[in-house]
Amino acid sequence: MGLYNRMRAAAGERGWWPADRSAPDRGRDEIIIGAVLTQNTSWKNVERAIESLRAAGLLSLARLAAMEPDQIAPHIRAAGYFNVKARRLHSVARFFAPGGKPRFTQLVRLGDDELRAQLLAVHGVGRETADSILLYALGRLSFVVDAYTLRIGVRHGLFPPGADYEQARAWFTARLPHDAALFNDYHAQLVRIGNLYCKPRPRCAACPLARRDCTASREAWAAIRERLA
Ligand code: SF4
Repeated sequence: MGLYNRMRAAAGERGWWPADRSAPDRGRDEIIIGAVLTQNTSWKNVERAIESLRAAGLLSLARLAAMEPDQIAPHIRAAGYFNVKARRLHSVARFFAPGGKPRFTQLVRLGDDELRAQLLAVHGVGRETADSILLYALGRLSFVVDAYTLRIGVRHGLFPPGADYEQARAWFTARLPHDAALFNDYHAQLVRIGNLYCKPRPRCAACPLARRDCTASREAWAAIRERLA
């Protein structure tokens, strides 16, 4: 929570995930679609693909489930790897809306772990995508880990350099209050720090997390002191 409080004090609540919230269903479908499209591309490209789907009236899992992947692909070109992502989007859409009929009311009955296991069995859904869908679209308690989380966690000595996705997820889940809103904003804050400061070459001097407990910032400050000596 110490790390979170520093990030939150620096940036305020991040309000992630960006989606049209004018209707609950629309926002949910948009988040799920965005979680699939965001694999291996920038958010700007995802936004362009989402706008293209919106313009065609296809920002809907029920509609995508009723199409074929090659009909979806032209609408998501901006997101890159569009043929691969069209197949993934189609599988995810069919999971949530088989036969074009949404089944969210049925899925509500599944526990977090069971739903996560079922999502991970869907074509093209990896851990980060599954956890993003669970947390941001469905409000489930599922901490999202990404490359920034691993990098920041290792540099701050939270887990060892070889830690993998599940270890990092378990680390945060075991230590944070079980609050989906907190998990939501925590991940968004880590993404901001990773984007702006915790790059392969860290910019610790400007980062809100620069403290004695951070290996990289200690090394950066030591190098600065050495240069000044
Ligand atoms: S203080 Fe340095 S190592 Fe720590 S998160 Fe910021 S940039 Fe990364």
